[in-house]
Amino acid sequence: GVLNYGQVMDSIVCKDFSRFLTLKRNLLVLSDFGLFEGMKAYRKQDGKNILLFRPEENATRMRNGAERMCMPAPTIEQFVEAVKATVLANKRWIPPPGKGSLYIRPLLMGTGAVLGLAPAPEYTFLVYVSPVGNYFKEGVAPINLIVENEFHRATPGGTGGVKTIGNYAAVLKAQSIAKAKGYSDVLYLDCVYKRFLEEVSSCNIFIIKDNVISTPEIKGTILPGITRKSIIDVARTQGLQVEERNVTVDELLEADEVFCTGTAVVVSPVGSITYKDKRVSYGEGSFGPVSEKLYTVLTSLQMGLSEDNMNWTVNLS
Ligand code: PMP
Repeated sequence: GVLNYGQVMDSIVCKDFSRFLTLKRNLLVLSDFGLFEGMKAYRKQDGKNILLFRPEENATRMRNGAERMCMPAPTIEQFVEAVKATVLANKRWIPPPGKGSLYIRPLLMGTGAVLGLAPAPEYTFLVYVSPVGNYFKEGVAPINLIVENEFHRATPGGTGGVKTIGNYAAVLKAQSIAKAKGYSDVLYLDCVYKRFLEEVSSCNIFIIKDNVISTPEIKGTILPGITRKSIIDVARTQGLQVEERNVTVDELLEADEVFCTGTAVVVSPVGSITYKDKRVSYGEGSFGPVSEKLYTVLTSLQMGLSEDNMNWTVNLS
């Protein structure tokens, strides 16, 4: 059947890539910083071929993050080779077409014995995988978000624009409070004016108004999502207008359609937004027409159901 997200199988094979960077076995991990990536592999309809999606983009993002965090990083070639090798070594865990995907987690962390605040003397790069189903329990049904007023995930000048583990530590509390109240996740605002949209805990946000698609521009406090970038390109090739700019919470509440993008969430429609004591609903319990089109074009390409005109997929067999 389709797995729930976070339901990790016992017998995951973890392959280390110590030949790329130093790994000392049995070493106590004393440095407390790390960077990671999230990717997915899909099994094609033929059951044999496997598709990766833009792996060099993840490699580049990890390299950019490593630069921000004073860490060395694998080259793009090393990163992609490690991902391909790990996926192929775990081929049997890739769900059949339509039943989910293999989530891939490349992780780069300081593993040197450092107690003080300093770049670690040694690093480990490893890749692990797990079969996954849908990220939200709603599946592809619309999710319900609450706009966060107290907590922030990123500050200007901080590390919000890179995929460091610390960013996720910052969101756990807000997310668990929201989930306890029945919301799917939290939407963050900028922490200076508290009126511009940033992103959700693990995905980017888009609004559609009068067929114009808008999403917050990348300026250091949100993660430059690879799905975000791909959806912008897909939308433009469909002849749609896309604006990357400051988007206010008022515009969000007036939007025709709202959706989130990310490797884990793919394209998820937003069914309602709660802001202070106001709740606004979108659509009728399903995708809006524009976001559904974008979802279909992107996922068909990722799963190998349509011609890859964008040259984004990497075929493994
Ligand atoms: N924002 C955050 C905070 C995320 O964790 C993710 C998931 N990596 C995204 C956005 C979406 O990025 P991508 O499309 O590359 O998965």
